[in-house]
Amino acid sequence: MSREEELRLSLGRVRERIAAAATAAGRDDAVGLVVVTKFFPGSDVRILSGLGVTDVGENRHQEAEAKAAECAGLDLRWHFIGGLQSNKAAAVAAYADVVESVDRAKLLAPLARGAQERGRPLEVLLQVSLDPPSAHGSRSGVAPDDLAALAERAAATEGLVLRGLMAVAPLGEDPAEAFDRLAQIRAGFLTDHPGATVLSAGMSGDLEQAVAAGATHVRVGSAVLGSRPQVP
Ligand SMILES: *Cc1c(COP(=O)(O)O)cnc(C)c1O
Repeated sequence: MSREEELRLSLGRVRERIAAAATAAGRDDAVGLVVVTKFFPGSDVRILSGLGVTDVGENRHQEAEAKAAECAGLDLRWHFIGGLQSNKAAAVAAYADVVESVDRAKLLAPLARGAQERGRPLEVLLQVSLDPPSAHGSRSGVAPDDLAALAERAAATEGLVLRGLMAVAPLGEDPAEAFDRLAQIRAGFLTDHPGATVLSAGMSGDLEQAVAAGATHVRVGSAVLGSRPQVP
């Protein structure tokens, strides 16, 4: 089977899962698909684009930058979904259309500067941590208690457009429970920012639960592209 045939089939299966989940949740709005292409070559991105994929996600700056350059000319929106260092943020804004992993105020100024250099506003999502509160630990995502303050600052930053929230279900917890929490956090957030309606949640293993909890976008990697090489 050619790679194109392989991707056509897996993409079709993922689209069916998303549609079935939306139906099961009684939703008739469209749920967007961001295909996470990290670790996979630009040639796969090109095939996906030919199969109608419009949005791709990457989580490492150098890889994303190179792939976006290689795939320039394809009609794609690039989502940056990985942990972000503030000294890389402006560079990410140079190719990303959406940065989904904004989790602290320190990122806002460099993202805005990068967007300004590029000459257009940058869409951002705030990544909310669904991890249990703990004193230590390397959570990624803003703590729910700190979300309102971060959102206020993001919304007030010229050059950035606050579009909504992103989250990853914690390991070792039923994703349905985690996403229920997310839905509640989002409800509060939307009263302050009614236009920021995007909710990016759900991956290969838990997209059904995310769609049930109101995700407007799912981020799916391995179910489309196959398993990734082991990260060292
Ligand atoms: C890798 C990644 C995904 C996709 O994960 P799969 O399980 O391969 O679908 C989604 N979101 C984020 C933030 C990721 O890093």
